[in-house]
Amino acid sequence: MTIQTLRGTVDILPEATANWQWIENIAQEVYKCFNFSEIRTPVFESTSLFQRSIGEGTDIVSKEMYTFADRKNRSITLRPEGTASVVRSCLQHKLIQPQSIRRLFYTGPMFRYERPQAGRQRQFHQTGVELVGSPQPAADIEVISLLKTFFDRLGLKDVKFRVNSTGSASSKAAIAEKLRSIVSPSKDKLCADCQKRYDTNVLRIYDCKVTNCREIIRTLPGISTFLGDEDKQHFQDVLDGLDALGIEYVVDDFLVRGLDYYTKTIFEAYKENSLGACDALAGGGRYDGLFSEMGSSFEVPSVGFAVGMERIYNILKSEDLFPEEKGIDCYIINAGVSFINILPVLQRLRNSGISASCDLSGRAVKAQFKEAARQKADFAVIIGEEELKNDLLKIKCLADRSEAELPISKVNDYLKESLNKE
Ligand code: AMP
Repeated sequence: MTIQTLRGTVDILPEATANWQWIENIAQEVYKCFNFSEIRTPVFESTSLFQRSIGEGTDIVSKEMYTFADRKNRSITLRPEGTASVVRSCLQHKLIQPQSIRRLFYTGPMFRYERPQAGRQRQFHQTGVELVGSPQPAADIEVISLLKTFFDRLGLKDVKFRVNSTGSASSKAAIAEKLRSIVSPSKDKLCADCQKRYDTNVLRIYDCKVTNCREIIRTLPGISTFLGDEDKQHFQDVLDGLDALGIEYVVDDFLVRGLDYYTKTIFEAYKENSLGACDALAGGGRYDGLFSEMGSSFEVPSVGFAVGMERIYNILKSEDLFPEEKGIDCYIINAGVSFINILPVLQRLRNSGISASCDLSGRAVKAQFKEAARQKADFAVIIGEEELKNDLLKIKCLADRSEAELPISKVNDYLKESLNKE
């Protein structure tokens, strides 16, 4: 058998890449519109980067990382998410000073050793932003509003936002302690994972799907019960901003996220699928303590999100929302001349920005016309002995079948005008 892709990884084939590029282009337009610049970091980093930032007790770090020793026995990990690397890069290259702001975005593959299923892969793609350096609720509103704009531009309807606050960096420990004391009497009834979470990251208990745990969770107070006045005010300001922008959301007092670094605002964007289940499209939040934990000598309060690109792709595909793919501008029909005669015509067309292709397998003229149609060419340019002798090429518009005859030197201008090209 020939070698196949590894479990949980997929090839994105030429039939799909145009649609992927369409999504990526819209993301870039929106990022530009919101004044964000791209950052590209390596796909593998020191394992300690993710252990320290995402947290040892999280599922990502404890179960899902692609970690291996390199040839010099250093522990390397394929990045499971983008934020940790962006923070590392900002610190390494001094991209931030006290009180300065950076608006950054990234796009690329991420790697998590999860059980592959619909919408869940081991290599998947995220695009996301990090608004670095602002403690203001306005920054939270800015990134949520960017995300909403992205969904709108894609034509994705009915995307819903779930928001919550997990408390500031300084209050997280006290909140965890309070929750632990409430959960303590039921600790023995929790599942094995939650018993671990009780010690490592007790808030994650809220997220457990095991029936026994769900019953205990139902009796717990929501996270807002534990918030101090400042955290409550920050969250209220964020909600007021979303209201002012007409962005609909649900406050979910039990929402927690799978990475340790989040503080204050957290959010998820999701869409109900035809089976009534929720597809999480994006997740994000504020991370005011992460830069300090990673060694910054000053505080760098920040907020960001990551969008799951496969999820976006699958929904757009199932709802038939991708634009119709445009074909090439021009297909050259070789009506029996040497390829040497075709080459300069092709070259001139391409040099003037007209996309052009031709037959490379010696097919008959009829088969070449079929190929031109298959490639959705706007025009066919026919070159035969007769045409060369008289310096008159036949140009056929494949949509309305109209024809023109022009000297070789006029073909480019004629096509450019017909194709509305500059
Ligand atoms: P997270 O980085 O865990 O907050 O995830 C952000 C988004 O990435 C999720 O809402 C999903 O859309 C997407 N995502 C996370 N893990 C996977 C995966 N294994 N396969 C495909 N998409 C994923």
